[in-house]
Amino acid sequence: MDTLTKIHRSWNMSRIREKNTLPERTVKKSLHFMNYKAKAHMRSIQGHPDFFLKDYNTAIFVHGCFWHRHKGCKFAYTPKSRTVFWKEKFKRNILRDRTVARLLRKAGIARITIWECQTKDAEKLRLRLARLLARTPSLLSAKGHAVS
Ligand SMILES: [Zn+2]
Repeated sequence: MDTLTKIHRSWNMSRIREKNTLPERTVKKSLHFMNYKAKAHMRSIQGHPDFFLKDYNTAIFVHGCFWHRHKGCKFAYTPKSRTVFWKEKFKRNILRDRTVARLLRKAGIARITIWECQTKDAEKLRLRLARLLARTPSLLSAKGHAVS
């Protein structure tokens, strides 16, 4: 028996290309709350990040733990049946993520990954975003940007 029910599986399947998922909306709210100027779904940036912060020259990807294989995360399980199918699928996703990372690096764009499981706690998410963005080479003046 598959560990995923049919409904659960179709829910998972539908999520991969879905825009404005709950984790995405949570990240969007947090960025807005902290006054970061972020554009959603920039087609002109490699890998079409979920958010792009021009002031920070930073692309933010909100990744589903299951599809993008969040290491050590309980949501990144492998279904018990059709194992080969899933392994192939996961491999392709990981390769695609790596390619995007390489292209962004080449283009001199910083990349931040926010995992789905990291969006459950809004407070922690904001701290994480602030910490990560503080590390990116800001294009703003020396005064910087209030991140608290
Ligand atoms: Zn996770």
